[in-house]
Amino acid sequence: MLSEDCVFCQNVIKKRDAFVIYENENVLAFMDKFPVEPGHVLVIPKSHYENILDIDYDLYLEVHRVSKLLCLPVIRALHADAINVGQNNGTCANQKVFHYHVHLIPRFCGREIGWRARNSASDDELDEIAERIKAEIGNSDKTIPKLK
Ligand SMILES: [Zn+2]
Repeated sequence: MLSEDCVFCQNVIKKRDAFVIYENENVLAFMDKFPVEPGHVLVIPKSHYENILDIDYDLYLEVHRVSKLLCLPVIRALHADAINVGQNNGTCANQKVFHYHVHLIPRFCGREIGWRARNSASDDELDEIAERIKAEIGNSDKTIPKLK
């Protein structure tokens, strides 16, 4: 089920107004338009759940399975040193969109991140990074890099 007043349900899932990097029957991953770092990806269920308390358990596992699957392609595409995987539940935990989502944030040694000073990325930049990540999803070499 989609929600009428949810930006992810309406703009991302229904209108496809997003740079999608991965999709299956239940889960969709796309570029965050306000990245904490370049390559910031959001992974969401394709039906509306607000947070970790109400999300269907199997769907929760599927979202996190896809999140793990995408970590290596994101790290490689951005030449990242490390990656944050996380999600926020509730306003006081910094949740901004009330549709369950997992953040994949590539990290670079010596660079701090800030949730409050998020960048607005251009469509060209998002598209270019999305294409690089998609190319890495298709890369059959699954050699695991050493994270820093
Ligand atoms: Zn929604």
